[in-house]
Amino acid sequence: MAASWFGSSGAAPHTLTVTNTPAAELALTNLAYCAPSDLSKFAVSGSKLVLGLVADSFVLSYTAHQSIREGCIALNAIQRRHAKVSSGDTVSVSRFVPPEEFDLALLSLELEFVKKGTKSEQIDAALLSQQLRKRFLNQVMTAGQRVSFEYHGTNYIFTVNQAVVEGKEESKNTLERGMISSDTYIIFEAPNSSGIKIVNQREAASSNIFRQKEFNLQSLGIGGLSAEFADIFRRAFASRVFPPHVTNKLGIKHVKGMLLYGPPGTGKTLMARQIGKMLNGKEPKIVNGPEVLSKFVGETEKNVRDLFADAENDQRARGDESDLHVIIFDEIDAICKSRGSTRDGTGVHDSIVNQLLTKIDGVESLNNVLLIGMTNRKDLLDEALLRPGRLEVQIEISLPDENGRLQILQIHTNKMKENSFLAPDVNLHELAARTKNYSGAELEGVVKSAVSYALNRQLSLDDLTKPVDEESIRVTMDDFLLALHE
Ligand code: ADP
Repeated sequence: MAASWFGSSGAAPHTLTVTNTPAAELALTNLAYCAPSDLSKFAVSGSKLVLGLVADSFVLSYTAHQSIREGCIALNAIQRRHAKVSSGDTVSVSRFVPPEEFDLALLSLELEFVKKGTKSEQIDAALLSQQLRKRFLNQVMTAGQRVSFEYHGTNYIFTVNQAVVEGKEESKNTLERGMISSDTYIIFEAPNSSGIKIVNQREAASSNIFRQKEFNLQSLGIGGLSAEFADIFRRAFASRVFPPHVTNKLGIKHVKGMLLYGPPGTGKTLMARQIGKMLNGKEPKIVNGPEVLSKFVGETEKNVRDLFADAENDQRARGDESDLHVIIFDEIDAICKSRGSTRDGTGVHDSIVNQLLTKIDGVESLNNVLLIGMTNRKDLLDEALLRPGRLEVQIEISLPDENGRLQILQIHTNKMKENSFLAPDVNLHELAARTKNYSGAELEGVVKSAVSYALNRQLSLDDLTKPVDEESIRVTMDDFLLALHE
């Protein structure tokens, strides 16, 4: 039973009948309601709000309401859908004992739809995070759950994309969930098609985020790089997340650029993407050096200029209000080789490097830009690009150590494990020990190749049209060992 994960309350579960929420204003809140007499049966004494477990699967926060009959629990449409129950069903509700560390470090919400009213063209993330933290304080959020709230008179429905608990190792059978605290950092995302812009995302962080040494990267799909990430946080994030009046007071200067360097396939792109998403809540722009480098003289300089055009236009139009533009430059060495090092005789490279340096130096045009360069060959880069004010924070992303490799293997086998495709004999610790000098990408390759060994076993060579029995697919330790010897 899923309840074991939550710790035991020692009390027997209560059976309640599901009813609809009676009043419109109750339906719009994220709380469920039960009769005061029922609440007292499983409330923690003295507390009004109880965390409950419905139908052994869904943790929610609920409170007492006079209008609910005894023996009933009122769930709104969103909650009923999430708990997979209908009005009239009976559910078993037990007290939920939160694990020790259950505060959310990060909650990422994605706009699903606007329920009624005239939608705003933009949502102020800083303002809204403050309101949400207050309103949902100590309430549980689970990935996949929908959250409804009112903003400027309109009801918005968001889906919880990610719920990341501080310092918690992800364990196999758990959903990502946790409780909103006054320090939870909330990221808002709205698809372009919604026509709603999220502004002030970088001001939305509470100061506490910088105290988090151990960010739970594994749940974001990044293994073994928490020390590097903490370093990036400390050196490059602070200036971006605090609002300008705070940074001015603290005398923090904006870091305009950082360089992630190290062997290929170690997670530089994964990391840069995550940084971009955290800073402004949307997928960052990723450009690739060799792609920018076009054959025609002059074109590449234009490409470099275009790259910054969005940010410049935004800054021109909205001044200090402009959003942060994160530009990720993969294989930056392809266009920023040291000047004079390429002997093509055209001087094309030199002028591109100059162009990029001018852009980075243009104080006015670049206050709203964070450039993240990535390279496998730092030694090839033009020295001038690495000076203060340019790609000044340089972080080495090296090959993972044994623990890092274990985390990466866990990340890439997680889905199989959840779906029982991973045989019990697979020992990820042993595989981590045997894969010294493997990069993250290579470890991912090993997992893929082990899967293909397992799939091949299922195929009958006599009759390729015979349907495969999905249930019996198992990726075994032998499959992994074969994959290692490829
Ligand atoms: P880089 O940018 O350093 O060349 P990538 O970030 O593009 O490497 O990695 C390629 C793929 O390898 C990723 O999409 C991911 O699937 C896997 N990978 C690499 N490093 C890691 C890591 N540290 N954790 C999890 N997966 C990783």
